[in-house]
Amino acid sequence: MRYGTKDVLTGVSFAARSGEVLVLLGPNGAGKTTIVEILEGFRMRSSGEVAVLGTDPAKADEAWRARVGVVLQSWRDHGKWRVRELLGHLGGYYRRYPSPGKQRPWPVDDLLEVVGLTAAADTRLTKLSGGQRRRLDVAIGIVGRPELLFLDEPTVGFDPEARREFHDLVHRLTDVDDTTILLTTHDLDEAEKLADRILILAGGRIIADGSADELSRRVAGASEIRWTLNGQRFVHSAENPTPYVRELLTQHGDAIADLEVRRNNLEDTYMRLVHDFEGGRQ
Ligand code: ADP
Repeated sequence: MRYGTKDVLTGVSFAARSGEVLVLLGPNGAGKTTIVEILEGFRMRSSGEVAVLGTDPAKADEAWRARVGVVLQSWRDHGKWRVRELLGHLGGYYRRYPSPGKQRPWPVDDLLEVVGLTAAADTRLTKLSGGQRRRLDVAIGIVGRPELLFLDEPTVGFDPEARREFHDLVHRLTDVDDTTILLTTHDLDEAEKLADRILILAGGRIIADGSADELSRRVAGASEIRWTLNGQRFVHSAENPTPYVRELLTQHGDAIADLEVRRNNLEDTYMRLVHDFEGGRQ
């Protein structure tokens, strides 16, 4: 992807597997939104090949659009609609595009159940709480029962409880409906909880691709061992902590106290990979 003379995506190549949650991570300006919008068919790429559900999104038609879900930021209008009414109305647009094997659109009561809005079915949109509102945004994005769902920073501004509920919802969608999900986030804890696979993007390139565990193994000193000996605290980084700990205990036995082994989490891994990439460019 190029704007004028500036390349903002270079050699980006990946494939999503059916039914997986693929998470795109990267600093601001890395190119996440550009990728997502190209895949959604909202932005034209400058060159290269793209297939989404087997079709080039730049040439896609309504029938393709019916198979893809996009969760946008909250709808501000339509305040006088009630939840069930709006979902029934929007679902109606998908009736022309029946899906083999699944009932499309979602039957409204089932959809309300999946997103946790059964009790709010007859509530006007203006009366919904922030969390309910966001669940409605998701319901709107999936009412056509998409095979592939795009979620762009879906939990920005959520409190911890709303975030947890949203994560449960994502798991339900993949479990109940086998939906493939492409999600962007800045929340590394969220990425670690949800992702089957993570792509880290920096400067318009993919710098890492794998599960959280696979990525953590790529970073040197993947685990940190801490212990106390004779009143003094020690820290040591190791690729493989088990032999180190065994040796420590063999040598010092009962004199070792407060032993901890901590595997790098995704945040440690991410910071190292992005930092190394940026260092390498200078
Ligand atoms: P991210 O979503 O990872 O923050 P973006 O995809 O929004 O990144 O942006 C990637 C790069 O493309 C940035 O350097 C941004 O300034 C540039 N960019 C995005 N949209 C345009 C545009 N319409 N014209 C020129 N440059 C753009």
